Formats: sequence, C-alpha cells, structure tokens
Amino acid sequence: MSLINPFENALSQLARANDVKPFARDLLTRLSHPHREIRGYIPLTRDDGRLQMVEYYRVQHNNWRGPYKGGIRFHPDTDVNEVKALAFWMTLKCAVADLPMGGGKGGATINPKELSKAELERLSRAWMRALVDVVGPEKDVPAPDVNTTPEIMAWMADEYAQATGDTTGAVITGKPIGVGGSLGRDRATAMGGYYVWEALKDRYGLPRVCDVVIQGFGNAGQHMAALFFHDGHRVIAVSDSTGATMNTQGLDIPALVAHKNATRQVNGFTGGEDLVGSELEVSCDVLVPAALENQITRENASRLKTKMVLELANGPTTPEADDILFGAGVPVVPDILANSGGVTVSTYEWEQNKKGERWSEEEVFAKLKRSMETQAALIFAGSQELKTDLRRGAFVLALERLATHQR
Ligand code: GLU
Repeated sequence: MSLINPFENALSQLARANDVKPFARDLLTRLSHPHREIRGYIPLTRDDGRLQMVEYYRVQHNNWRGPYKGGIRFHPDTDVNEVKALAFWMTLKCAVADLPMGGGKGGATINPKELSKAELERLSRAWMRALVDVVGPEKDVPAPDVNTTPEIMAWMADEYAQATGDTTGAVITGKPIGVGGSLGRDRATAMGGYYVWEALKDRYGLPRVCDVVIQGFGNAGQHMAALFFHDGHRVIAVSDSTGATMNTQGLDIPALVAHKNATRQVNGFTGGEDLVGSELEVSCDVLVPAALENQITRENASRLKTKMVLELANGPTTPEADDILFGAGVPVVPDILANSGGVTVSTYEWEQNKKGERWSEEEVFAKLKRSMETQAALIFAGSQELKTDLRRGAFVLALERLATHQR
C-alpha cells in the first residue's frame, strides 16, 4: 500500500467537513469506527498443487440506512486500512446517492492477473464461503470493484445459493445479465459520472468540446473514455497500470479498447504515442482519475493543468491536494458523488432481484440520470452556500442524511 494511509485521509475529510458545518460529536465518533472488520486467510491451492494463503477482508462500516453495501477488490497492495477507507466512503456515497444502503467493502491481497481462470474461481468461491454467514440480501451486499468482474460475482452468487438455498441473487450485485444482473450495470459508474459532469460543466465554464485525460483503463475508465469520445470530445491521454498513450488530436477509443483487449496494455497503441512523464500533468479541460487512491497529492497537485478533476476512482485526491486545487480554483468533483452511479445501479439490481423484476436499460439510465442530477445540484448549491469545495459539500449532505438515521 502507498505510504499515505487512506483511512486517515478519510477521517481527515470527515473532520474538514465538520469545520464548515459542525455536526454532533457522537455522529462523527460513531462514523470514525467501522461496525465490524472481518479478516482471515483463504487456503488457495494453485494449479501446480502449491498452497498459497491469501488474506481476505470484509469491513462492514455502517448500516443505519440499510444493508452494508460495497465492492470486493482483488489487488496485491490491498490491506485492511485501504478496505476500511473504502468501506467508510461507501457509507457516505450511499447517503449522497440517497440509497437505502449502508457502507461496506471487501478484498483479498492477491494479483488476480497472475491466476488461471480455475484458480480465480476457487479463490472467489472460497471468499464467499468464508463470509456466507455475514452477507445476505438484508445484511451485506457485495459487488465488483478493482479487478473483480461479473463472472466473479456469478461464482459468488452461486456459492451463496448453494450454501443457503437463496437463489434470488440479491446477495451480490454486478452479476452477468443472464444470472440476474441489471441492464446498464456495466456502464453505470461511468454513466453516472458523465451525468454529473454534464450537470456541472456549464457552472464551471468548460468549453463545448473538451480535452479529456483518463487515468486508468479498467471498467470505469474505458466506459468513461467511450462516453466522451462518442459525444465528440477529445480524449487526449489514457493510462493504465503499465503505461500511457497520448494523441493531442484525440485517441480513437474503440480502437484503443481493441488494442488493450489484444495486448492487455495501452502502450504501443498505433493511434497514439507512448507518454513519458505523468498523464496527470497533461494540459486538459477534464482530468478523470479512474484507478486507485492517492494519485493527486501535495507533491503533484500544483503541477496539474486541468480545469476540473472528476473522480471516478475512490480516494484519488489527498486532503492536502484538495486544498491546493481549491486555492487554484480547480473544482474536484468528489468520488462519493462522481462514481456513485455504480452503487446506484447495483441497488436497482438488488431491488429487481428481490421483486423478481427486470427493468429496461432506458428505465435504468433515466432513473440514474434523475438521481445524479438531483444530488449534483444539491451538492453544488450546498458548497456555494458554505463557500467551500464540492467534497465538503458532499460530505455535509451525506452527514445530514446519516444523522437522521443514527441508531
Ligand atoms: N465498487 C463500486 C464502488 O466503489 C461499486 C459498489 C457497489 O456496486 O456496491 O462504488
């Protein structure tokens, strides 16, 4: 994990929101401690017969508003502080999105890219088996996050159904469509971020055609790039964990996705040039961090040359960097608003599973759009009124909603 502890950053964000609008001390103290942290080791038998002990986690942060909700991250750098921070942000995010959900997060410290498909399936099923007593449609509802896919959700849903007899699928979201997934869930995080961006862009005077830089080319980053591309904007640089590619005329995103699928990297793309130096410092109108936390820090924040940061990743900007950017007049659209489209459509999936319904993609996106626009407008107005940044504005809105559910 990075040297910056993301949970400390999360607590500092909480304190900073309280500076602009004071809340009851008990509320803040309660939210500073997760309800429960579960961790242990999964014995994973590798294909060559070797035994590997894999550390796994589920942090159930808060369930005042509804079941714990949040994804599962498989990453070699995942640790308990990261999962705790991510669980905390889910509580705030579900409140911002006004969902009947609390916050949780899970993970396993492993690089799934080094596993065979059979190994990944064994690990995923074992993760669910280890947690089968603490998750459930009315208790805790996991979902995908970094490096976890609909296929993994399907294995986990099946494992849960075998153990409990509950075949509704409502225990986990982000499933493939054929096994109860919601239409639109795959694009939901990016779509939600795009709706928020559309709702805010004029208020911050962004040009009609924007130059966009995207850090991260996983689910959120790829779909976001495609949305900007198809709307006629120029996506001028895209990075992934192996490198970055750039084209000031705009990258051909469908071609870049095909290149990434074939080579598993963005480097070497013939429609762009491999970028030396940081993609975060490329001059642009919108910078979209869509990878991991702690990317925009006090070291590089003053070198950013963007008119807006739109956080599709969780926790990409540290509190020190927030201050630098706010001082420079660069709005940071915070993660708990900008990426809340994912968990919003996850919640639609959970609802459909429980009621045995199937909603059309049009219905899903129309509902998502209304919700994202409503919360974006509230947060914009709140932050203007408090003369503060959008993150504090979003935290204040979430804390007000959590306060009425405290128990
Ligand atoms: N992992 C996503 C997030 O960080 C989605 C969580 C969910 O759908 O429950 O918001």
